[in-house]
Amino acid sequence: MSVRVRIAPSPTGNLHIGTARTAVFNWLFARHHGGTFVLRIEDTDLERSRPEFTQNILDGLKWLGLTWDEGPFFQTQRLDLYRRKIQELLDQGLAYRAYETPEELETMREAQKARGEAPRYNNGHRHLTLEQRAAYEAEGRTAVIRFKIDDDREITWTDLVRGKITWKGKDLGGDMVIARAATATDIGQPLYNFVVVVDDIDMAITHVIRGEDHIGNTPKQILLYEALGAPVPEFGHTPLILNQQGAKLSKRDGVTSISDFQKMGYVAPALANYMTLLGWTPPDATQEIFTLEEAAKQFSFDRVNKAGAKFDWDKLNWLNSQYLHAMSASALTDLLIPYWQAAGYEVDWIAKRPWLEQISALIGPSLTRLDEAVPMTRYLFTQDVGFSEEATRKLQQDGSAAIVAALSTALSQSSELTESSAQSLIKQVATDLGRKEGQLKPILRAALTGETKGPDLIQSWLLLHQQGWDTARLQAALAIVQ
Ligand code: GLU
Repeated sequence: MSVRVRIAPSPTGNLHIGTARTAVFNWLFARHHGGTFVLRIEDTDLERSRPEFTQNILDGLKWLGLTWDEGPFFQTQRLDLYRRKIQELLDQGLAYRAYETPEELETMREAQKARGEAPRYNNGHRHLTLEQRAAYEAEGRTAVIRFKIDDDREITWTDLVRGKITWKGKDLGGDMVIARAATATDIGQPLYNFVVVVDDIDMAITHVIRGEDHIGNTPKQILLYEALGAPVPEFGHTPLILNQQGAKLSKRDGVTSISDFQKMGYVAPALANYMTLLGWTPPDATQEIFTLEEAAKQFSFDRVNKAGAKFDWDKLNWLNSQYLHAMSASALTDLLIPYWQAAGYEVDWIAKRPWLEQISALIGPSLTRLDEAVPMTRYLFTQDVGFSEEATRKLQQDGSAAIVAALSTALSQSSELTESSAQSLIKQVATDLGRKEGQLKPILRAALTGETKGPDLIQSWLLLHQQGWDTARLQAALAIVQ
């Protein structure tokens, strides 16, 4: 049997890290077995689904490298199939129309609560006569379609992650709603728990791998597989992603969607690598850096943890920095240009490519995230960069004026600037003024970059020199030291 798995996001929000991590596990499992990874967009919630969320989900999966083999399929384009299948259940007497109003259902729940019972549907309309149905319809009531659940059933499956799980039919809340807003002649709007099963059968899904929050749906869905006469697939429920407090990672934790991580300057292979480790331990637990393809070779569900996976920013940052540090200057430049552009920096991105790559080579080894490049290189892209408070203080220290003046004169007399000539120039000025180089350099940095910290000073100077801005910077510094 060839493995077929799917990711089935609802486009009611941007691609969430939890969904993306579940997509990673599905992808790894499919690739490990040479199987098929299907993408299905569960857009039946018309009020909350939006095309821009669908786009965000597709972009996010592609960006992460989670290529799918079939789809995207859209549930809203498959409504006929769902309606036909509901009709089959109605014809077989396995489902029925129920006419209680929301108020009647609420009264039922209140009464159950008052008796200390768990709220559930009392299956009250399971056996309506034709006359009773006609009377409700004459009243103008719409119906829901309910699938019969046998209270005496026990439903058991062996979960790929959690082992044997058993549910009792009586704990499933009574006959379940599979469509709403139905009329005597119309099926209405089919709902999640039903359509997901119809689709998984139709798409021949062999393993349903999804978040732990769906465990309670699985026994109901198993009953639907049986009713629809289809083999029951394997199920695997992946652990939740938790915040530092151990609660489910939610919108309140700030960054949760893949596009947010992307904007913050995490690179796709690092984030994919990190998500792989969120709940899975490779056979060699010391191996932390790998591509999705490498992980796929070793992936199995017996190394997926049951316990929730704590989201660890330090670990993600560390991984991201490892990827950034290993990147070529050219690849890094491709990734940095959009950040520089978004920050409003302007240069001729084509003609200045060699200069940009030198910048990437300079700052690459100290980057943790791509967005850090923006403040780090401001002095190279902003002509009138100004001086920070610390830099101003440094430049206004006793003795700074003479140093800046001497550096400025020496620079104006030097024909070309190279790494070694820059070094000799500093040495010469230090000797002339009877100072140590270590005293000069912080002042030179403050003058050239407007900051007291930053990338390697000599390299920064050379890059600034290529822009033709170093002389003017020393002049501007002179103006504030005097
Ligand atoms: N549409 C569901 C969700 O986004 C997925 C359901 C499933 O995987 O079975 O949570």
